[in-house]
Amino acid sequence: MLSFFKTPRIRGGVHAEEHKTATAALPIVSNFPLPKKLYIPLQQHVGKPAEPIIMVGEKVLKGQLLAYSQGLISAPVHAPSSGIIVDVNDYPAPHPSALPIRTIVLETDGMDEWMETQVAPDPFKLNPEEISFRVGAAGIVGLGGATFPTAVKLNMGRENHVDTLIINGSECEPYLCCDDRLMQERAEQIIDGVRLMLRGMENTDAINRVSTNAVVAIEDNKPQAYVAMRAAAEPYAQIKVIQIPTRYPMGWDRQLIRYVTGKEVPVGCRSSEIGVTIHNVGTAYAVHKAIRYGQPLLGRVVTVAGGAVKRPMNVEVLFGTLISELFDFCEVNKEEIARIIMGGPMMGDSLPHAGLPTVKATSGILALTQSELKNTDEQPCIRCASCVSVCPAGLRPLDMANNIRINQLDAAVDIGLKDCISCGCCSYICPSNIPLVQHFKYASGEVVARQQAQHKSEQTKKLIDARNARMERIAQQQREEELARIAAKAERERLKAEQEALV
Ligand code: SF4
Ligand code: SF4
Repeated sequence: MLSFFKTPRIRGGVHAEEHKTATAALPIVSNFPLPKKLYIPLQQHVGKPAEPIIMVGEKVLKGQLLAYSQGLISAPVHAPSSGIIVDVNDYPAPHPSALPIRTIVLETDGMDEWMETQVAPDPFKLNPEEISFRVGAAGIVGLGGATFPTAVKLNMGRENHVDTLIINGSECEPYLCCDDRLMQERAEQIIDGVRLMLRGMENTDAINRVSTNAVVAIEDNKPQAYVAMRAAAEPYAQIKVIQIPTRYPMGWDRQLIRYVTGKEVPVGCRSSEIGVTIHNVGTAYAVHKAIRYGQPLLGRVVTVAGGAVKRPMNVEVLFGTLISELFDFCEVNKEEIARIIMGGPMMGDSLPHAGLPTVKATSGILALTQSELKNTDEQPCIRCASCVSVCPAGLRPLDMANNIRINQLDAAVDIGLKDCISCGCCSYICPSNIPLVQHFKYASGEVVARQQAQHKSEQTKKLIDARNARMERIAQQQREEELARIAAKAERERLKAEQEALV
């Protein structure tokens, strides 16, 4: 039986305006027209980019491997539809910088013709290692936004004898409701994915065998999703579905683990080290499709919303679809767009334009109008400490910001800058409209850049020192050889003089 922490704790957080109602009530749209071209970045996950195995001009089928994963933390990339590869080159990334990233361009042929897939008639007969291998080969990564390779997490769960699998159905970011709709409409498939994940984490070692239970945690603002998931999980004693309070950022891993299990993940540790692992509901759905039907991860449900969107919706799109095509489909008024955001408004990334592709991390695309953006009229800090009380990481945002303003980055690091998760609660609550989270994002980037520069200069110094030592050794050797040569010559001359004296 699952046991729950009796006095659940939530640290910080805010009740952000939800903006979900209209979109959450609409069924998932599955008839998005097949794009003529798909722009598929090779880096859609945490870790090393995938390495292409196809050539320009090659014909590919839907689901075919386009690029294999490099190293342990990486994920392969597959063809979202059938067609011809027309380019492998640098294209703008769906990132605030829109810096170029290696991308495969696929011209679709309109046939959407599948490759032959590996169906598992009874997937529960597969051994756990085989399940995580298939999950990895399907390119599945965390679809809650983290994009960490799922197979690696399953392996860590197995190796660390994890006893609790949390399925994150909180979807706490405003506007986003793709997970909500997925749970309402495809609950049985998600629960099947959860069971397969449990199987994938099973440690079959008889001595250390632990029984792993799953908890599906859903915020209480999604009652239909909760009912559907409870009904789907009912036959399985190993899976419990619970409601959790609606409070941003309830979906942050550490917050959710603390709430569900009462355990605190120590700083610098992974949750699997304390017996807990956490996956998103969309990830469980992708596992179901990969193991049952052999389908790699080719697309996802994306929430398209915001004041500039005339037809907001949750729509199934293939990875590589341009955001501009999504905007056309959802009848976005381009003149009204003040900001485009990929993800939610609190932690999402502002994009410079809509000519960028959707990727595995794209849970939502928001086209926000000026009236939806926070007032940027910054006022002096009134030391109300509201930012401190809402910080889920237990930090003092006002002190960190003060240190950053006077360029004391080390002092900001000393009081926790690296523990900031950029959730934006402090900025959201600040009555003086101080863009605190922007200070922290800037400073974190600066700290990383400085560390890299320092590492580079240390490496350079090491190389110079090694070269100087080598040169010194060579000079010393030359001096010794010269002395030996002089001594040998003197000896020869002495012997010669002795011989001449004898004569
Ligand atoms: S919430 Fe804003 S005004 Fe209040 S202490 Fe923090 S930074 Fe200052
Ligand atoms: S952005 Fe950072 S400092 Fe601000 S509330 Fe979130 S974790 Fe705390």
